[in-house]
Amino acid sequence: MASALTLNNGARMPIIGLGTWKSSRGEVTEAVKVAILAGYRHIDGAYVYRNEEEVGAAVHAMMDQGVVKREELFIVSKLWCTFHERSLVRGACEKTLSDLKLDYLDLYLVHNPMGFKPGEDLFPLDAEGKVIPDNSTFLETWEEMEKLVDAGLVKAIGISNFNRSQIEAILNKPGLKYKPVTNQIECHPYLTQEKLINFCHSKGITVTAYSPLGSPDRPWAKPGDPSLLEDPKIRAIADKYKKTAAQILIRFHIERNVAVIPKSVKPERIKENFQVFDFKLSKEDMNTIMSFNRNWRIILLDLTSNHKDYPLNAEY
Ligand code: NDP
Repeated sequence: MASALTLNNGARMPIIGLGTWKSSRGEVTEAVKVAILAGYRHIDGAYVYRNEEEVGAAVHAMMDQGVVKREELFIVSKLWCTFHERSLVRGACEKTLSDLKLDYLDLYLVHNPMGFKPGEDLFPLDAEGKVIPDNSTFLETWEEMEKLVDAGLVKAIGISNFNRSQIEAILNKPGLKYKPVTNQIECHPYLTQEKLINFCHSKGITVTAYSPLGSPDRPWAKPGDPSLLEDPKIRAIADKYKKTAAQILIRFHIERNVAVIPKSVKPERIKENFQVFDFKLSKEDMNTIMSFNRNWRIILLDLTSNHKDYPLNAEY
């Protein structure tokens, strides 16, 4: 049986979701169908992945065939950085809903604390190759996100790639109406995020771990980069439990009450990644895996390091 985390709005978020970044338009519909048939009920998407129509087609096919009902699914999307200004937030959410052909999202995240110059270009860069910021603050953006809940477009709102002081700024905002339900961050055995996870949990904010397998298909991967899936120490633990390295990397989050969203477009792997509810990692093995931390980041957001809200300079 798959488990779920209770969010601070009372809703339940299935602890495993299917990631869809880099899932091509030609492959993602089948991948989402396979996932739903395999038992996934949580799908992690975003406007910037440019495949929400194809994700929505799969969701509708599964509902039309009677495999799932809308209320059994937990559909997530994210507000892209070029839509942070007050006047753009609702339209961005409506565009995602119309691409998905849904009338509400279960969770809508601010993809990133940094607002970028609005326009067609999703990564507007200056002559030096650095991102061009907009005039918004993430506190204003958050107030517009709150209105989406009140308008019934989304059941819950959350954040992604926010650091501790940015989360505190939201929690301390005068007139705050809704706390973020989750902070979606990079997390895996080479970036265990102990402090940020403890902080979020202490505030009633769940954590969702992205790039749990080390994102081997990230466009900037280089030979010789660290590889979680090929790490002999992870593989040794996998052999001990008669599981695969991917299954150990996914179960690692479940033991910490952290949601996890592995991406795959391969049917056998989509199923494999969900077969993690029939074993537990021992305390000793969890401690061993935690000791692999080396603060190695896959998502450095380096084009944006000039931005006032760049989140990754803080210790956590
Ligand atoms: P993952 O760590 O999930 O790795 C995905 C890669 O692993 C793909 O190359 C996939 O290949 C391969 N893979 C999947 N399962 C297995 C398996 N069982 N054995 C071997 N290889 C496997 O990377 P992502 O960076 O995609 O992260 C997951 C999701 O998190 C994203 O898709 C997205 O939804 C979200 N995300 C959010 C971010 C944010 O800023 N909020 C940033 C980054 C990710 P194949 O598909 O060919 O099987």
